[in-house]
Amino acid sequence: AKDAGKNTYQFFEEHMNRAAQEHLSMQLELRRALQENELHVYYQPVVDLRQGRTIGLEALVRWRHPEKGELLPGAFIPFAEKFGLIAQIDQWVLAAVCRQWRDWQAQLPPGFWVAVNLSAASLKNHGLVDEIAEVLYSHGVPASAIVIELTESQLMENARDVLGLLQGLRELGLRLSIDDFGTGYSSLAYLRQFHVDALKIDRSFVHDLGSHDAAAIVSTIVAMARNLKLRVIAEGVETPAQLEVLRGLACDCIQGFLYAAPLPPAAVPAQLHAVLVP
Ligand code: C2E
Ligand code: CA
Ligand code: CA
Ligand code: CA
Repeated sequence: AKDAGKNTYQFFEEHMNRAAQEHLSMQLELRRALQENELHVYYQPVVDLRQGRTIGLEALVRWRHPEKGELLPGAFIPFAEKFGLIAQIDQWVLAAVCRQWRDWQAQLPPGFWVAVNLSAASLKNHGLVDEIAEVLYSHGVPASAIVIELTESQLMENARDVLGLLQGLRELGLRLSIDDFGTGYSSLAYLRQFHVDALKIDRSFVHDLGSHDAAAIVSTIVAMARNLKLRVIAEGVETPAQLEVLRGLACDCIQGFLYAAPLPPAAVPAQLHAVLVP
């Protein structure tokens, strides 16, 4: 019995060591990724249903890992959050988007924008507004070209801190969008105090559009948003049937695999002129 206990302990210790080592190497690798430019930005088109064309893009980070290949945010953002590196990633993405915007500038239709996701850690940075202003200014990108996406739960959890920050971003001329809307059980009336320009209906509702409940929720969100003069973007649109329901509800915009997946930058210019089949 004594031996068995010892074996269990040894197993436990080895296991812990391996976990701790993986933890450490992930941290070192993430730092290297930031330094060696292993991160990349993909861009997913957002289509206006009335115009049938791309009116903006969402920037989504990818990690081209030298051994593991292309990693999605789900595989490394939770670690970046744990190691306190996520705000640095957000900053890196914004700078990459600004460089890219300058490259595309001549081809972009008027009013075109790129949306960037900010993490909760970025919102805690008191210098955020100044840092964003500096990045935009140094790249010569107008603030009106950038949309900041914050999730409904980020807004709800930090309401008091976030209000001043959002005001600063708005004064710079940035637009604001509520991401993953519908998952946080907050009312649009409550969220109105944040003066956002758009909301993105979480893809779980779009996925379930065949059900009466989900369709009723989406229909209510679209109607309320229209009254509040907010643009509505339905996320995760994958099927023509979902598109038809959303058209019927007079949803403004869609984003999803049906129209285009997140694309490498080289594939974006061709999408700017693509027309959504009615
Ligand atoms: P999100 O902001 O909700 O982004 C949308 C996600 O839905 C993306 O996943 C996109 O690839 C995926 N998607 C788009 N169309 C469809 C579709 O038709 N069906 C389905 N099933 N999925 C679709 P991705 O790129 O894996 O990003 C996951 C999350 O990681 C994002 O969710 C966002 O919260 C976070 N993220 C991505 N880039 C950044 C970044 O630069 N900074 C921060 N802080 N977070 C980021
Ligand atoms: Ca987003
Ligand atoms: Ca989302
Ligand atoms: Ca999300």
